[in-house]
Amino acid sequence: MSEGSTATKGRTAQKNLFDAAILVSNLIKSSLGPRGMDKMIVDFKKEIAITNDGATILGDLDMSHPAAQAMVEIAKTVDYEVGDGTTSTVVLAGSLLKKAQDLIDKKVHPTIIIDGYKKGADKALRILETIAIKVDPTDRNWLIKLALTSMASKLVSIESPFLASIAVDALLTIARKSKGDPKIDVDHIKIEKRPGGSISDSRLVKGIVLDKPVWVGMPKKLTPARIAIVTKAIEIEKPYGTSVKININKPEEMKMYLERESKIFKNIVDKFAIAGANVVICQYGMDELVLDYFSKAGILGVRHVKLSDLEMLAKATGAKIISTSREVTANDLGYAKLVEERKVEIEKYLFFEGCKNPKSVTIFLRGGTQNVIEEAERSIHDALFVVKDVMVKPQILAGAGAPEMEIATQLKKWAQTFTGKEQLAIKAYAEAIEVIPETLAENAGMNSIDAIIELRAKHSKPNHKAYGVNVQKRKIEDARKFNVYEPLAVKEQVISAAMEAATMLLRINDVLMSSKPQTQKLPERAGAYEYGKADEYSVRDGYGGIEK
Ligand code: ADP
Ligand code: MG
Repeated sequence: MSEGSTATKGRTAQKNLFDAAILVSNLIKSSLGPRGMDKMIVDFKKEIAITNDGATILGDLDMSHPAAQAMVEIAKTVDYEVGDGTTSTVVLAGSLLKKAQDLIDKKVHPTIIIDGYKKGADKALRILETIAIKVDPTDRNWLIKLALTSMASKLVSIESPFLASIAVDALLTIARKSKGDPKIDVDHIKIEKRPGGSISDSRLVKGIVLDKPVWVGMPKKLTPARIAIVTKAIEIEKPYGTSVKININKPEEMKMYLERESKIFKNIVDKFAIAGANVVICQYGMDELVLDYFSKAGILGVRHVKLSDLEMLAKATGAKIISTSREVTANDLGYAKLVEERKVEIEKYLFFEGCKNPKSVTIFLRGGTQNVIEEAERSIHDALFVVKDVMVKPQILAGAGAPEMEIATQLKKWAQTFTGKEQLAIKAYAEAIEVIPETLAENAGMNSIDAIIELRAKHSKPNHKAYGVNVQKRKIEDARKFNVYEPLAVKEQVISAAMEAATMLLRINDVLMSSKPQTQKLPERAGAYEYGKADEYSVRDGYGGIEK
């Protein structure tokens, strides 16, 4: 190895990795569930976010330790795949590692632990299938219950019934069109945020909202609207640079030039009018003369609209995106029952509403402050994803730690069919997964040991599979009674991802670190490793102020 490189071997290396990963898991633990605490994150620009969202908390932190980064990566994957369950994943992975540490101390080899964990996780997935409830993916009542569970832990929980119905209706609106095709694209739901008012002023627009005012003199309201969408600018390319000149020597020539220009523009506007358009949306510029002609023709012209908005608009209204006016026909036009300019606070917006079978809709979010609105957006994000998850795979579970408790109970029994160290590892998995109900209880201010004992007793009886932690009433109860449901897809993802993170770290027994970063600038925040001090790196107390 080159000079300055360091190597940490065997147990020490592994312990360091585990410690860092467990640290991250402990950090996030207190935010699990509806009674979880919020975190205030202050970023390097001193901007503040208050959130309970695992993915956001981890995503915003500057994790410099490789094992901590691995945990963050796993949380991001879960967030990307199913949009919820990130906190649970990290907490479960941490718990698996803690139990692994105990086994390693008892001289169980990591490969045996990995095997046992793998068996445990596979069995857990099969147990979940047996307790899952099949639902109708278009049943609004079920979908709202799911949305509500996912939103329960966020700041705006008082408003969640209202936001849940917006999220569900948004998805039902865009999904109905893709019958038979379970692929529902959450990206087709645009979220337009405007601070001010209150969350209850938010609404679902079955169409699109553009952050654009109407040009003076143009119609501010059209019913119905026939919409053309073009990508090319509607202006005459002005020669750039100094080398190109338009030679105009006499006043008549100037007049002729302008007349020719205005004739071209008039033609373009006529083409749209003949096709029947009364709204023309353009990705790039429109000459002011063009805007004037549009005004005269009673057409609403909107310029400089982002491509992403154009695409949403096309999906919502059914318009075809064309490149220039030359091609426009009635077939290319989209439809909206109403296009109207509305003033929200001091900003003017263009609302495209009442679209027929829109494949894209907008959630117009309002809320007292930027912070409130952003947490509301995260709530909506989670709700959209869990509802989508269930629409794609219509199976759900009674939550509140019940599935984890059921897995633990059945796994402990199942472990008896194995011998020796393998049995220990499967049992360890079963004990590790109890961390979810345990943490839910703890965060609700309950005695978590008592809660687990009561849950174990319940789950050992038949027909008590759905008993979980009612964090509002602080008691052990059937989760179906207090309406806490989660998508099967989320729980499956949690189990697989946590398992992946834990085994990845379990497989490592040496850490080799190249000396290269020494010449680069070290991260400014605390929590980097200390290079070259001894023959191993040590994890400092905190990652940017987080304490063990
Ligand atoms: P995650 O990022 O893992 O989704 P959350 O903070 O959203 O973390 O917490 C999810 C957990 O909280 C799930 O186990 C879910 O069943 C549970 N949960 C949600 N609502 C309730 C409730 N009202 N009572 C008890 N547990 C709940
Ligand atoms: Mg959640």
